[in-house]
Amino acid sequence: MNDNFTIHKTDKPKEKPDQNSLGFGKYFSDHMFVMEYTKGKGWHDGKIVPYGPISLDPAAAVLHYAIEMFEGMKAYKTKDGRTLLFRPEMNAKRLNITCDRLCIPEMDEKLFLDAVKAIVDFEKDWIPQGEGRSLYIRPFIIADEVFVGLRPAEHFTFIVFLSPVGSYYAGGLSPTKLLVEDEYIRAAPGGTGYAKVGGNYAGTLKAQQKAIGMGLDQVLWLDGVEKKYVEEIGASNAFFVIDGEVVTPPAGGTILKGITRDSCLQLLKKWGYKVSERKVSIEEIFNACESGKLDEAFATGTAAVISPVGELTWKGKKIAINGGKTGAISQRLYDELYGIQTGELEDSMGWTVEV
Ligand SMILES: *Cc1c(COP(=O)(O)O)cnc(C)c1O
Repeated sequence: MNDNFTIHKTDKPKEKPDQNSLGFGKYFSDHMFVMEYTKGKGWHDGKIVPYGPISLDPAAAVLHYAIEMFEGMKAYKTKDGRTLLFRPEMNAKRLNITCDRLCIPEMDEKLFLDAVKAIVDFEKDWIPQGEGRSLYIRPFIIADEVFVGLRPAEHFTFIVFLSPVGSYYAGGLSPTKLLVEDEYIRAAPGGTGYAKVGGNYAGTLKAQQKAIGMGLDQVLWLDGVEKKYVEEIGASNAFFVIDGEVVTPPAGGTILKGITRDSCLQLLKKWGYKVSERKVSIEEIFNACESGKLDEAFATGTAAVISPVGELTWKGKKIAINGGKTGAISQRLYDELYGIQTGELEDSMGWTVEV
């Protein structure tokens, strides 16, 4: 599989971190995958090299105009020692959707998958085993052309690095408290909200800091025009269970189409739940809560898979959801997805890809 990629092996392999204090995004494996794009030549010279700093010219376009995109995925080690990826072809497709929005040249889906498989296979000893642990995979592209002028760049670097991560949930799923943000916005129609571009995230820090300052965990984003409809939860997708109906906002331009979101929608439909991709206003959610019809709320994303929501604060008003406890649908989705991802449950959807 890595026949086409050059390999430079490190002569200073690192000691593996303590498996009990992995956390998230703190440790990095010994090697990374690097590939360049040059106009006229396309993507070329894919290689596996020792993990380490990269050198950039101060005039590199990414440093000035944030011409950067990223992806996020995970590899799991099964109990019988196989390495599994979860729907990686979806990441390949989304990478190209994002690239198109930033005028970054397209990458052949097979080339992307081969690169991810090659580096994960090369670093398979870095996949931590045990409850909730995985190898987080971060592919990204930067415009490193040396040019201070605003136009589509002509030289790019694609990198994939790996980070062994611990469990989000040491003691089972734990519901979060959200601030319904009614001042700052994350995305607007016509903008880049549907694309995984780095620039989308810098602008969210202020709101996140505000939420944490209020003793809450995360932000629930409203739409950027009327600040009326719910959109996302932090950097994950939002689901609500209202009177038995599972509702998630439609992915129409301002919402990042999560692969976990899509997987939840497919599972819920298969299980026979009433599922709707429709606009849902924050008022509808608060009213449903008051009349006892808000059954559950949860966030979905690669990092935590499912993150139940136990409380919302909007304009100084607080509501508890499901008594602040994890709901049955949240738990069922988590168990099913995590079971499939780790090879513990039968992959009836054909979602896992062995490396
Ligand atoms: C990555 C991301 C998600 C979740 O996508 P997954 O593919 O499920 O990990 C949701 N919202 C935003 C803004 C994101 O960046």
